[in-house]
Amino acid sequence: MRSADAGVTSGDAKQRRDHQGRLGRMLATSDVGATPAEYSATSDDVKSAMSVETVESVDAEDEPDRPREACGVFGVYAPGEDVARLTFFGLFALQHRGQESAGIVTTDGDQLYQKRHLGLVQTFREEDLMELSGYAAIGHTRYSTTGSNRIENAQPYLVDGTLGQLALGHNGNLTNTLNLLDELTRENVALDSTSDSEMIARLLAIAPGATIVEKLQYVMPKLQGAYSLTLLTPDAVIGVRDPHGVRPLAIGKLHDHWMIASETCAIETLGGVAIRDVEPGEIIVIDGDGEDGLHSYPGQPSKQRASCLFEYIYFARPDSMMNNRSLYLARQRMGQQLAQEYRPNVDVVIGVPDSATPAAQGYAVARGLPYAEGLVKNRYIARTFIQPDQRLRQLGVKMKFNALSAVLRGKSVLMIDDSIVRGTTVRPLVKLLRDAGAEEVHLGISSPPFRHPCYLGLDVARSAELIASRLPDVEAIRREVNADSLHYLSLDGLMNAIDLDHDTFCVGCFTGLYPMPVQMDLADKFSLEQVLRLREPEPAGA
Ligand code: SF4
Repeated sequence: MRSADAGVTSGDAKQRRDHQGRLGRMLATSDVGATPAEYSATSDDVKSAMSVETVESVDAEDEPDRPREACGVFGVYAPGEDVARLTFFGLFALQHRGQESAGIVTTDGDQLYQKRHLGLVQTFREEDLMELSGYAAIGHTRYSTTGSNRIENAQPYLVDGTLGQLALGHNGNLTNTLNLLDELTRENVALDSTSDSEMIARLLAIAPGATIVEKLQYVMPKLQGAYSLTLLTPDAVIGVRDPHGVRPLAIGKLHDHWMIASETCAIETLGGVAIRDVEPGEIIVIDGDGEDGLHSYPGQPSKQRASCLFEYIYFARPDSMMNNRSLYLARQRMGQQLAQEYRPNVDVVIGVPDSATPAAQGYAVARGLPYAEGLVKNRYIARTFIQPDQRLRQLGVKMKFNALSAVLRGKSVLMIDDSIVRGTTVRPLVKLLRDAGAEEVHLGISSPPFRHPCYLGLDVARSAELIASRLPDVEAIRREVNADSLHYLSLDGLMNAIDLDHDTFCVGCFTGLYPMPVQMDLADKFSLEQVLRLREPEPAGA
């Protein structure tokens, strides 16, 4: 049995293939690795073509002032277990990494079975799990870093390849999608979705190779950017991490069964034990063969490790481990480092819940100051399907946070947050504290100013929307958010808190220097969708 939304080539694929060339020819000269100026010169046609239509209008006030999480991937090989149920709960633990869609694919050794839904993992029903039989599974929870939120873009993708069925879930963002699109077009391969992740699945489907490992070794050098993958064939679960190791991927064990997950919290939630990270450039195959049932292969050599710093600062759950580091303790140390750099005269320290709580606690302990919960968060506001009316929308952050005047009244308050992106939340928060009676509001940020967009799997905002890019200096930001003082943790302080080799991290959003070339102007999450739309056939008679 195969579900109706299995990712197979649709009937009109040939028609789309025939017409993928219109903009493709315009893009033929675009080059990964070009400087922004060089790239602008080659992409004017594309940009002017894009400017004629707005794909999605965004009300900045409605957008959370945080980078949006990337995606979460999970895989388990567990004969005799209910692998669909294990995957469901694995994804549940990774829900913070994506709330737009969720999907599970299982195998019974002969065939793959797929279910995908828009929305939270909990949109899965008991009947869905009953239909997902088998002894191995992969799952995916998505926030769209490329492509819009449509079921076609939900993962894992399921494709037919030269070795049979293959399912793929991807966390990250490729930075050379236009080149890959051109390659697929040359090979007469059409896409059913507007996601870079499907490109990887389609490239693997047609790649030469007698095994999935040989196919991966062929395709990986063609991919640029960030990718942590889980793959499922009829007889194996596979984990792959890009040579930079931008996004996390961990291996764990549940009794005798192997699991792969974006974060160790998913492994431990199921009662398993985290064993190690998948190394950058490594391919892990779990097929039950041999003594261990798990095999490691070189995928593509790693020349430079570049883990995402924001996983440590904010994205990943504090109960996850990365690179043998507890993220909770790392965040506490960020607060301690901040206390070395910034010491306003305050009565009480509070954190913006929940992500800044460890840093706020670390700060307070380092300075011997009282820590209190000055803001209480409504954790369910994002989960409601009832839209607030205009009057309620105007309440803004008040719908999400309530300030505790019993803690704040008459006090000089230091509020710690982990980052400021657009600045749309922090100013109302400062006002909320003042309205609750705080006499002074100082602001400490446990990361450096976020000045540049992320092209590697996180949806943050364009440069012009980033407050630290838009305004000339920290003093201008302080004035805009109306704080009494403001300090960002230095990059050195952040690195000291993480306590790993500085050269093994991506610092692109802080410095503008990315670990790999990026197609700057087309790195918007909808760009691939726009390109594909422009490649659609023109209406007859147009
Ligand atoms: S640019 Fe920033 S958010 Fe993106 S991968 Fe690098 S460190 Fe992470």
